[in-house]
Amino acid sequence: MPELPEVEITKRGIEPFLVGQTIEKIVLRNLKLRWPIPKKLRTILPSLKIRSIERRAKYILIDCSAGWLIIHLGMSGSLRLLSSLNEAPTKHDHYDLYTTNNTIIRYRDPRKFGALIWTTGNPYDHRLIKHLGPEPLSEEFNREFLYQKLRSKSSKIKLQIMNNQVVTGVGNIYANESLFHAGISPIRQANKVTRPKLELLIVAIKATLERAICAGGSSLQDFYLTDGSTGYFQQQYMVYGRAGKPCHKCKTTIKSVILGQRSSFYCPKCQK
Ligand SMILES: [Zn+2]
Repeated sequence: MPELPEVEITKRGIEPFLVGQTIEKIVLRNLKLRWPIPKKLRTILPSLKIRSIERRAKYILIDCSAGWLIIHLGMSGSLRLLSSLNEAPTKHDHYDLYTTNNTIIRYRDPRKFGALIWTTGNPYDHRLIKHLGPEPLSEEFNREFLYQKLRSKSSKIKLQIMNNQVVTGVGNIYANESLFHAGISPIRQANKVTRPKLELLIVAIKATLERAICAGGSSLQDFYLTDGSTGYFQQQYMVYGRAGKPCHKCKTTIKSVILGQRSSFYCPKCQK
């Protein structure tokens, strides 16, 4: 599933090709994503100028002067730059956005949980976005903020850092890895994590996400100019997906447990 780093990489990948350009048309092949794609985009978008591209949580926000496109990649979506005007779409290629300088951005999504939404209001006030917690890479996401958020929460720490109202975009992989780096067990009660440990957790979340963005960013050109089948980079994980294997730090066997229907992985010795 595309997580925050992949969405940020996608945003940075399409930005230089779209910002400042004028939309020529949008070709919609399949309107049935998570919500129906509005057909009126076929008439609204032509001749609009793209002013900027932003990201909030896992939403890509494209400022089209007269309104905003809000894109979500869902479970399996990807946006890529087409290298040729004649590349035939497959059945999973649901829409193409053309600019007047011959750039084509194609959206592929085999599982169709993604979204393409149009809003003429402030996208940050959109109902899907308005109530989200702070961005993990922002200064607003700091130790005191997290301490105040969690002081009355007796559920498990991993569920809290994956809660979009606490902090946005910390998906399963990054939650597992960050808790390992901070030495905190995923099953620890959230309000029992000390301030110094929360500080370590904040640093670990930011560092884990930034590392992933850097690693993905270095392969952007390859990603966007090839067939784009998945493109998301695979990194080496400390605990994620490693149940039954020895901890990279202490050789203790990595354990797994299901929390909130998601697999959680941790080292019982390094994480308390
Ligand atoms: Zn260990």
